[in-house]
Order: sequence, then structure tokens, then C-alpha cells
Amino acid sequence: MVKVILDLKGLNADDALKLQDACVLIEKGVNSNIFSEKVKNFSYTITKCTGYFRWKKCYTEKVNGFTSTNDSVDLILSNILSGKTQDELGPVSDGVMNIRVGVIPKTNRFSKVIGYTSPGESKTYVYRPNFNAMTNKDLAGHLFHEYIHRVGYDHSSASDLNSAPYAIGYILENILEVIAP
Ligand SMILES: [Zn+2]
Repeated sequence: MVKVILDLKGLNADDALKLQDACVLIEKGVNSNIFSEKVKNFSYTITKCTGYFRWKKCYTEKVNGFTSTNDSVDLILSNILSGKTQDELGPVSDGVMNIRVGVIPKTNRFSKVIGYTSPGESKTYVYRPNFNAMTNKDLAGHLFHEYIHRVGYDHSSASDLNSAPYAIGYILENILEVIAP
């Protein structure tokens, strides 16, 4: 069983309450029976072509795994469940996900970016307008996406939806729609 612990330092009472609820949701979702199954069975399709012109033949192939990484689904899953992130001081693999969040003002109100986590830093930043607009479930999905970055997985762009942070973030949100409607 995975435990999610939220560092309350620097948070006001309302923000802390919302974030704590989101962390409870992450814990519920990740510990559900279907989470591991959905991660292990995730696949995406690629189109491969051989030959040229009228000899060109294309076919689609199903790949079990996530884009932007060569790690197997089993390794990705065990890395996420271990609670070990790239930014922690020691090799912590205690099954505890430590989450630290800062809610910050948004300077570019037209930007679609919800927040960010800088490589090597354990604190995740969420922009205030997005933080306020998100439901607790959306926030859980977003924090989990950022957490997966901290575990060491990335995406090539915001449209790399089969990458571990996006795909597993959405797996969690979909599970929450079912178990915490
Ligand atoms: Zn991301």
C-alpha cells in the first residue's frame, strides 16, 4: 500500500484542505485493484511503413508501454509505487509519496500551463487561477502527473499523451471517476 504525505509548510488553511483531499484521492486511486492492472496493460499504437510508392505497405502495431521512455511497464509501476523520486536526498523507497506544493500567482493569464516542477526540485508549483478552478479530482490527476516527473519520467510535448506522466495521470483520473464519483 502506498501512502501519500502532504507537506503543509507555507500553505494557507483553505489550500491545505483542498490539497489534502486531492492527496487522499491519489492514495485511493493508486491503491485500488485496477490501478496496477491499467498501468501494466497500457498500450499505444504506432504506424510502420515499408517500401516506397506503390510498394509501400503500412501497418499499425500495438506497443505495450509508454512513449518517451524505454522502461518496461513493470519497472515504471514499481518505480512509482516505491515512493522514490529523483529529488530526494537519500535513496528513499519506503512506499511513501511525499508531496510539497506551492500555489503561486500567474503572470501570463493566457498560458495554458497549470503548473510545473523543476528537475531536481521536490516542490511542485501550481498557478493560483488554475488551482482555484480545478476540482479536487483534477488536482489529484495534476499532482500525480507532476509526481511522475519527479520519479523520472517525461514527455516530449503537451501532446505526448501516451507518455507516463500524461497517460498514468489520466488513468488515475478515470479510476477516480469510478471509485470516487
Ligand atoms: Zn508534464
